[in-house]
Amino acid sequence: ALAAQVRTFDGHGHTADGHHVELLANVGDPADAAPAAAAGAEGVGLFRTEFAFLDREEAPSIAEQVAAYRRVLAAFPGRKVVVRTLDAGADKPMPFLAGDPEANPALGVRGLRTAARQPDVLADQLTAIAQAAATETAQVWVMAPMVSTVDETQDFVAACAAHGLPVAGVMIEVPSAALLAGPILAHAAFASIGTNDLTQYTMAADRLLGAVAELSDPWQPAVLQLVAATCAGGAQQDRPVGVCGEAAADPALAVVLVGLGVSSLSMTPRALPDVAALLAATPLAECRRLAQLAVSCSTAADARAAVRAGLPVLA
Ligand code: PEP
Ligand code: MG
Repeated sequence: ALAAQVRTFDGHGHTADGHHVELLANVGDPADAAPAAAAGAEGVGLFRTEFAFLDREEAPSIAEQVAAYRRVLAAFPGRKVVVRTLDAGADKPMPFLAGDPEANPALGVRGLRTAARQPDVLADQLTAIAQAAATETAQVWVMAPMVSTVDETQDFVAACAAHGLPVAGVMIEVPSAALLAGPILAHAAFASIGTNDLTQYTMAADRLLGAVAELSDPWQPAVLQLVAATCAGGAQQDRPVGVCGEAAADPALAVVLVGLGVSSLSMTPRALPDVAALLAATPLAECRRLAQLAVSCSTAADARAAVRAGLPVLA
């Protein structure tokens, strides 16, 4: 069985018939970047920059940010590094961005929404990312968290362009953004689906609450349909769509995501070998067949069971 073997990843993700699927790393602490590269990650699909900001009364200086960002870029020379701008609020509170108390912080001023209230924090961050990018060879892509509208997308892309950052994309974490992926991707260079939040907001189930864990499942067919809608928008605009939520680290679900049209999967580096191995054993047409099967199921349990039954290598 797949899990019983000790595996490594050789740094090139692909299906059994050679269709390339970029397998990337999620990085939080900049100290984790070099080990992620050593684990074979083809690049970074999600650099969570909150690390530099958490547990602080004030936002870090531009110089401090440049040093932290350079460390991640330096670990991936010539490779893609997707830097996510600050995702403050909700489960990631930050005193310097706090506004009035909110009854429902997950539905409040979080992620990119904080930029409307305090544009300087985003402007300084984009300045720091551009300065770090200027001294490193990594291909720097920038993306915003918690985007819900086309207007927000346009504002973010314009802010990135003004800072000399031409590759600007958005996370798809809110059902509205998944449904509007086509119009959003008319402006954004790429999309990356955050399945943790997309599941939370689709199912109306707090991602941190054990009592609703059964609902908080990315195998829920409603979530898979929104992934499919996002991929359709990407295909319409000829823009790449990736996944950087925990779903990408589940090998059977990774097969489904590729079958739905996702071109990159970003995950905790220790998940890379198992995801790579199952993809390498599955032809693209089979990924597509299993994806259609999963999307047509009416429960998460049925979707999971149907796909696992169709992947003999997992049995
Ligand atoms: C997500 O929501 O899936 C995601 C990758 O972002 P985070 O987990 O940092 O909210
Ligand atoms: Mg998120």
